[in-house]
Amino acid sequence: MITASVHPRQLEPGTWQQELAEAITSLDELAAALDLRPADFAGAHEAGRRFRLRVPRSFVARMRPGDIEDPLLRQVLPVAAELADEAEYVADPVGERSALRAPSLLQKYRGRALLITTPTCAVHCRYCFRREFPYAQQSGDAPRWSEALAAIAADPSLEEIILSGGDPLSLSNARLENLTRALAAIPHVRRIRVHTRQPVVLPSRVDEGLLQWLRTSTRPIVFVLHVNHPNELDAQLAAACAKLRATGITLLNQSVLLAGINDDVAVLSQLSLRLFDAGVLPYYLHALDPVRGAAHFAIADERAQALAGELAAQLPGYLVPRLVREVPGAPAKVALPTTFET
Ligand SMILES: *Cc1c(COP(=O)(O)O)cnc(C)c1O
Ligand code: SF4
Repeated sequence: MITASVHPRQLEPGTWQQELAEAITSLDELAAALDLRPADFAGAHEAGRRFRLRVPRSFVARMRPGDIEDPLLRQVLPVAAELADEAEYVADPVGERSALRAPSLLQKYRGRALLITTPTCAVHCRYCFRREFPYAQQSGDAPRWSEALAAIAADPSLEEIILSGGDPLSLSNARLENLTRALAAIPHVRRIRVHTRQPVVLPSRVDEGLLQWLRTSTRPIVFVLHVNHPNELDAQLAAACAKLRATGITLLNQSVLLAGINDDVAVLSQLSLRLFDAGVLPYYLHALDPVRGAAHFAIADERAQALAGELAAQLPGYLVPRLVREVPGAPAKVALPTTFET
């Protein structure tokens, strides 16, 4: 992912653009903010050279000071384990390079295609399967969108377009509006989906312009948020979710199952319950994509399936996310069968 280059002159104090520009990218600053010693971050400099540290201050504020094992910190802190080369962990774990229909447009599944709208994210998640995506060749400057839009218009089977990235909410409200207006002008595009982590790591992104865009869309919009741990869901995020819900959009969540972060039935159960309180339904729990540098987050399938079973035994069905894996070449995300203790 590439760091946003917002020109300082455009920044008004108190806006999300300013918060984005002030995200922490230095290990020393992160250590200071969390009452840790830079020496606690062994290997972080080297790992951070491969994929840079980046985390908004409002997300850091939800971490426990002095705790190197904090589940939010572990999602963003570069660590030495990322440097270990594991044979099955590769640059393109889900076969994206071969799914390109047009510049920035990926299609793997019937009826829906995914548009890479921007390389920029507010946060850099260490487990991200697009850590090494060649955005420079694919990212959507305006002329390239026009090729993707033409490909969508030419294929009546494409009923749903998913805005992805990077994080699509890194784009300005005006660009989002223009893009959705162009999509809604294509008669067979019935739904627009937005995969975003930005309301989670930067709740101020849910500003009046964004809400206005959602309210005035002529197509139903689905937001799929990305929350991995209940500690991410503080009052500020819940308030942002309430505003999003009030526009009438559908709010879902996907998580990635991560060793040492949320591979625990109590944590997953609390996550589902807090999501529900915020008006968000759990959608997917993803098995980790084997991207280079993320092997230390992996969980054995048997354990993942048993966790899903324990979760299902505790919660109503609509609060149990589907445990899935992305298998290159498969016609849909592949569900892992739930196992129950007997
Ligand atoms: C995951 C993904 C989707 C969405 O799949 P759903 O099961 O509909 O959530 C669509 N396109 C691509 C390329 C994907 O990777
Ligand atoms: S997981 Fe999402 S928000 Fe995190 S770095 Fe990857 S694309 Fe960006």
